[in-house]
Amino acid sequence: MSIPFLKVGSRSSRLARIQVDEIQALFKKNGVDVAFEPIFVETQGDKDKSTPLTANVADDFFTNTLDQALRDKTIDVAIHSAKDLPQPLRPGLAIFALTKNMDDTDAFIGRVQLAQLPKGSKVGTSSLVRQQSVKTINPHVQTVSIRGTIEERLKLLDEGKCDGIIVATVALKRLGLEQRITEIMPWDATPLQGQLAVIGREEDTHLRNLFAPFDVRRAYGKVLLVGAGPGDPDLITIKGVNALKKANCVFYDYLTDPKLLEYAAQAEKVYVGKRKGAHTLPQGELSKMIKNKALAGQTVVRLKGGDPLIFGRGADEINYLRAYHIDVEVIPGVTSATGIPSVLGIPLTARDISSSVAFVSGHDKEEETNEKKPIAIPAVDTIVFLMGLTKLDVIVDSLIKAKWPKTTPIVVISRGTRPDEKIVGGTLATIETDVQKGGLLPPALIVVGEVVRFYTTLPTLCALSALGGQQGGDKGSILYTGTHPEKYQALGRIIHLPMIAIAPAKLSEEEKKRLISSAQKADILLFTSRFAVQYFCETMKASALGHKEIFAIGQETRQALERYGLKPTLVAETESGEGLVEAILNQKKIKGKKILFPRSSLPNPYIRRKLIKAGADVDEYVVYCNIKPPKRELNIQSVDEVLFTSPSTVKNFLEDYGQIPKDWKILSKGPLTNKYLQEHGYKSELFVYEWKPHG
Ligand code: SAH
Repeated sequence: MSIPFLKVGSRSSRLARIQVDEIQALFKKNGVDVAFEPIFVETQGDKDKSTPLTANVADDFFTNTLDQALRDKTIDVAIHSAKDLPQPLRPGLAIFALTKNMDDTDAFIGRVQLAQLPKGSKVGTSSLVRQQSVKTINPHVQTVSIRGTIEERLKLLDEGKCDGIIVATVALKRLGLEQRITEIMPWDATPLQGQLAVIGREEDTHLRNLFAPFDVRRAYGKVLLVGAGPGDPDLITIKGVNALKKANCVFYDYLTDPKLLEYAAQAEKVYVGKRKGAHTLPQGELSKMIKNKALAGQTVVRLKGGDPLIFGRGADEINYLRAYHIDVEVIPGVTSATGIPSVLGIPLTARDISSSVAFVSGHDKEEETNEKKPIAIPAVDTIVFLMGLTKLDVIVDSLIKAKWPKTTPIVVISRGTRPDEKIVGGTLATIETDVQKGGLLPPALIVVGEVVRFYTTLPTLCALSALGGQQGGDKGSILYTGTHPEKYQALGRIIHLPMIAIAPAKLSEEEKKRLISSAQKADILLFTSRFAVQYFCETMKASALGHKEIFAIGQETRQALERYGLKPTLVAETESGEGLVEAILNQKKIKGKKILFPRSSLPNPYIRRKLIKAGADVDEYVVYCNIKPPKRELNIQSVDEVLFTSPSTVKNFLEDYGQIPKDWKILSKGPLTNKYLQEHGYKSELFVYEWKPHG
């Protein structure tokens, strides 16, 4: 076989030439005959010695000419100091080999040690990072940018233009100038300092193979950033479990469930703590430990809460490791930001209610102090705040300043999906006091927006008696499934288990305009619930309605209308669709009249059909939504009677609990509910109850 003959490009300094010889020597040592024809070129960085590297120079300042030579095929490979390479490499080029690390430290050369230099002394460095490092050792010196070959930099020192210089130790060693070193600096030098890189054209596989034996990356391990999920150990992915099983080493945080570590039976497990105010290990130290394990050939799992790349600095870890050419794979996880609300039945997006969601950090930086800077509130329907528990006051203030109504529901979930989960809910007006009382521990998630209403079962917001089995046994308890328990207090012991929840419909500006104009044109407004009144009036704001007939179902709806300064011209005493239609047809002439019917997302085709049949023109608008709250534990022993307020309360109850216990007395409000129960095999008594609101 013929001896490969290679045109090897390099920069032209003495150091660069020595580096080429070093690579050639590697072949010799391995007993491989390769002839190098060195081609020395000057890069932009060699020619331009005045631009300091602290200025924003291009990342290929020292490689561009050689990159071009590779592309033009005037050379076959190029040899560089690995730290000078741009990341990523220019298209079409690849690293064929990264050599062993000879020495990755920085050296100081001066008359005395850096710390002993008097105030105002000049220390020459070639990079911004080194300038900052110098200040950590001696904040009183002045740093100056110097450029040029090592020999040129030493000359600046020798001529007294500087009182000290910082250079790579490995360069001095290669040049045989080791004896000049005053001291080795304790800081971490630039990644890859001390390593050489052989660059070639991607498609030259045979050349890549030729250099492969010198490529240290072949012995590297790999880092897997694995999302552990929000807390419940069953919420990790299968891929995550497989990563744990094959890991040699696992780095885990303070809330990691022990069950997850059991998957990694073979692995060394390193606890890295991390809790606000009690960091066990600084981030830099942690990254370095992970790096060293990977460089030593281990498969390292960095197990991170939730998803590895949602807050929590996953991106920093990736950048750090990639700078050392360590292979990093990300295995996604269920982020607490979506996972915890989902488990609780809080949809971050919901048709008609929320079409956008933002994740916002309560802290600018994780370890930031308790400074009370306002938080920028994005214009979205739902916001999930992470790392926000200690900033709850700032979050609430910022939301209110951003014009979020004080009545907006908000929930704080501490240690979600874990056995010690605690939940406190309320509105922007109440939440701070409630959370203080609750004594919640971090980590905690804060969810704010109308969708929180889906979680109507907040223990602080409802009667607890039948729930979670805490109490029970009182005779005469009525399970009430509607949204207005106050109304029934007089009947006795009411256990509130809402089977529907209410949220305003999300109307676009266009839809709002149409509703307002339709209301202005209508002859009659028709309301079948207080929520319809509330959300209709909130949309109308100050828009003039003019003189209109207003029909309402029941006293509660009447009272709601009066709160908005509207007086109904007809109030049906029988609180049902049938009762309303009957009252209208008996008392009013509606033929040819325009009726506006603002209603819930559950249609009431009966009312619509009857009114149209009587000759009216009916315009319906959805102004609020009926939604199903998440299931709660229910102690059936403590209930004697159940009152269903609509077909959907029955439907949702059956969905959650399968059936209505045989020994319960069933009451239904209105014939539609009665009929629905009948269709599902239950006999109910029609419940008629005259409620007299106060005032
Ligand atoms: N990468 C993580 C988030 C890291 S930031 C993820 O995707 O979930 C840490 C923040 O996450 C905490 O301050 C808290 O707001 C939230 N968090 C994580 N786990 C949580 C849990 N079990 N309960 C409540 N909040 C949690």
